[in-house]
Amino acid sequence: MAVQRTFSIIKPDATKRNLTGAITAKLEEAGLRVVASKRIRLTLEQAQTFYAVHKDRPFFGELTEYMTSEPIVVQVLEGEDAIAKNREVMGATNPAEAAEGTIRKEFALSIGENSVHGSDGPDTAKEEIAYFFSGLEIVG
Ligand code: UDP
Repeated sequence: MAVQRTFSIIKPDATKRNLTGAITAKLEEAGLRVVASKRIRLTLEQAQTFYAVHKDRPFFGELTEYMTSEPIVVQVLEGEDAIAKNREVMGATNPAEAAEGTIRKEFALSIGENSVHGSDGPDTAKEEIAYFFSGLEIVG
């Protein structure tokens, strides 16, 4: 498997509880390198654009409000098979179903407030990275 890049968010529930370092450590321990990182606060419009794929789901309003409720940390992660590796270390969307040792098992509060986002495939990784970062901000 080739070296890939993926996009990650440390979500509001985690930044609020000072878990940025602990979550980044888990990502790094999994072999992912942080090649770009910044702390930002999303506007409602940005959150709605980012999660547009979920716009017809019942949780869309709650999700986009939550994503704007506190700062987030957006990151680009690089490594062998980075997209799948990140999904693995994140754990299942619902922390009650997340495997032992995963970020969501350890830190997530609920299915909504689940501490991290990670791209689900190569196309979304590319789109999501480009939405938040310019090429100059990514240093591999
Ligand atoms: N989400 C939610 N309720 C649900 C399903 C999802 O609030 O029933 C939120 C949750 O924060 C999740 C995000 O919407 O991380 C995106 O959902 P997706 O199914 O893409 O899960 P992920 O890829 O983040 O595991």
